Amino acid sequence: MTTAAAQAAVAENPWLNAQRQFDNAAEILNLSPGLRAVLREVRRELVVRFPVKLDNGGLRVFEGYRVQHNLTRGPAKGGLRFHPETNVDEVKALAMWMTWKCALAGLPYGGAKGGVAVDPATLSHRELERLTRRFASEISVLVGPDSDIPAPDVNTSAEIMAWIMDTISMEAGYSIPAVVTGKPLDIGGSEGRPSATGRGVTIVALEACRRAEMDPASTRVAVQGFGNVGSVSAQLMHDAGFVVCAVSDVHGGIYSPGGIDIPELMEHRRTTGGIADFPGTRFVSNSELLQLPVDLLVPAALENQITARNAGHIHARLVIEGANGPTTPDADVILEQRGITVVPDILANAGGVTVSYFEWVQDLQSFFWEEGEINRRLERIMQKAFTQMCQQADSHGVSLRLGAYLVAVKRVADATAVRGIYP
Ligand code: GLU
Repeated sequence: MTTAAAQAAVAENPWLNAQRQFDNAAEILNLSPGLRAVLREVRRELVVRFPVKLDNGGLRVFEGYRVQHNLTRGPAKGGLRFHPETNVDEVKALAMWMTWKCALAGLPYGGAKGGVAVDPATLSHRELERLTRRFASEISVLVGPDSDIPAPDVNTSAEIMAWIMDTISMEAGYSIPAVVTGKPLDIGGSEGRPSATGRGVTIVALEACRRAEMDPASTRVAVQGFGNVGSVSAQLMHDAGFVVCAVSDVHGGIYSPGGIDIPELMEHRRTTGGIADFPGTRFVSNSELLQLPVDLLVPAALENQITARNAGHIHARLVIEGANGPTTPDADVILEQRGITVVPDILANAGGVTVSYFEWVQDLQSFFWEEGEINRRLERIMQKAFTQMCQQADSHGVSLRLGAYLVAVKRVADATAVRGIYP
C-alpha cells in the first residue's frame, strides 16, 4: 500500500472516525477517563460464519456480525445490512452511531448494528431467504424484544424482517413480533415505517432551512442514493416545495438544473426499472452529483462520500446526512471552515429508528396507531431533538455534529453514572 492509500484507509475507517467524533464530545463534556474508556468501545461483538445451501446444490460460507455498542438506556437497537464490503469495523461504528442516535431522539434504547458480507444481487430469492434465516438463527443468542431488536438497513427489506421474525418465533415456539421492526403490516409492522427515514430527513431539512433563512421554494437539492432513504427523501422534499434537481442510484445520477418532477421519475422507475435516461435530464456520476451547483445536499447512500478529497468542491450550503457516516471527520473540518452546515446523521436519519420505536411499542401493547398519529409524533421528536442540538451547538460555539453529540453522549454518560458500575 502506498503512503497515500494507507492514510486514506485510516481517514476512512468508520470505527476510528466514530471514536474520533466521540472523543471530541467527551473532551468538551469533560468526561472522566473511566467513563470515556467505557463509552468509546463496543460492549459485545459477535462474528458468525455459517453455511448456506445454494440452489445448485453447493454450499457457501458467509460471514456476519451483530455488535452491541451500549445497553445502558434500554435494549440495543439497530439495523442489519447485506453488503459485500460490510466488515466488523463498519458495523462497530454503525452500532456506536445508533447509541447516540437513540439517545438524541430520547428513545429508551442502546445501540447495535449487524450485517452479512454478501452482495444480495448474486443470490436467488430462495438463497436470500435461507441466508437470512440461518443468519437470524446464528445471532439469536443476542436478539430478543427485551435485549436487541434488529431492523432494515442497506439492502434489507420488510420481507427480510418477516423471515427473521418467523425464524426467531419458530425457534421459540410462539410469535414474537417485537423482536424486529420494519416488518410488513400483516405481522405487526407499523404504518409510516417504510417512509419514516425520508420523512425525518425532510422534517430536518425544513428546520435547517428555517435556521439558515433559506426558502425551500428556491432551494436546489441533490440527493445521492435512491434506496429507501434517498427515494422517499426526494419525494417528500419535492412535495414540501424544494427544487430537487439531481438524484442518483448505484449506477449514477441524473441532473436537471431547473428541477426534476419526482412523481414522474417514480413512474419512469416503475416502468424501466431505473432512473437512467429520464427525459429532460443529463447523466452525472455519483461523485459529480456531490459537487453540483445546488444549495442543499442529501448524501443518502453509504459512508465516506464527502472526504478531504472533495470537501473543498462542495457547493451546497447545507448537507443533510440521510446515510450513516457519509462525511469523514477530516471533511467536517473543511466544510466548517467553508461555512457549510452539516446536519449530522445521528439526527438527520433518526426518523427510521424513531418509527421503529413506535412499532416496537405497538407490538408490545398489541395496540396499533394510525399513520397520522405516527407522523405527528415523529415530527415532534425530530423537531425537539433539532432544537436541543442547536442549543448545545450555539452555546459552545461548535458544529451541529458536535452539538448533537454533546446532547447524546451526556444522556448516555448520565445514565451510566446513575446506574453505577456493577457489581
Ligand atoms: N437502519 C436504520 C438506521 O440506521 C434504522 C434502525 C432501526 O430502525 O432500528 O437508523
